[in-house]
Amino acid sequence: MCFFFQKYGYTHLSAGELLRDERKNPDSQYGELIEKYIKDGKIVPVEITISLLRREMDQTMAANAQKNKFLIDGFPRNQDNLQGWNKTMDGKADVSFVLFFDCNNEICVERCLERGKSSGRSDDNRESLEKRIQTYLQSTKPIIDLYEEMGKVRKIDASKSVDEVFDEVVKIFDKEG
Ligand code: AMP
Repeated sequence: MCFFFQKYGYTHLSAGELLRDERKNPDSQYGELIEKYIKDGKIVPVEITISLLRREMDQTMAANAQKNKFLIDGFPRNQDNLQGWNKTMDGKADVSFVLFFDCNNEICVERCLERGKSSGRSDDNRESLEKRIQTYLQSTKPIIDLYEEMGKVRKIDASKSVDEVFDEVVKIFDKEG
């Protein structure tokens, strides 16, 4: 069981992982479209991502009503995501805080290329990573800035080692959890 669930009661959901799983599902009508977006480092249309998140959240809470705290990884990533979230979740969910893993591009690229040696991900290559950085700067950073203005961002220096980053995350959850 995930450490964050055991200690703080959060269920971890990754938007990217849900999209990659959906892409693998031969019955999904969105498989090809998702693959194209991911390879191009682009943000998949919000209707798809939100419906996957909603499905997971609903199933988790239906199985255990106390599992109502979620750590959503990689979301919202653009204005469209944010609007989709506000429209679907208005009055149903509160955003407590946003974890921002701040790391420079060179280190991110280096780490993803290393991960690419074994990940099998179609976006762990230099070309897709360059596109992902552009998408991040144009679409995701402004969303982080919006949450910053609301006082919701908790920033972590993610250029440090895995253990140091983990310790920082734990400190934040101990305070906010
Ligand atoms: P990640 O697993 O977070 O590194 O995301 C990998 C890719 O999945 C991204 O480059 C996007 O193409 C797609 N993706 C992840 N999160 C989202 C999201 N919130 N909205 C749309 N597409 C996403």
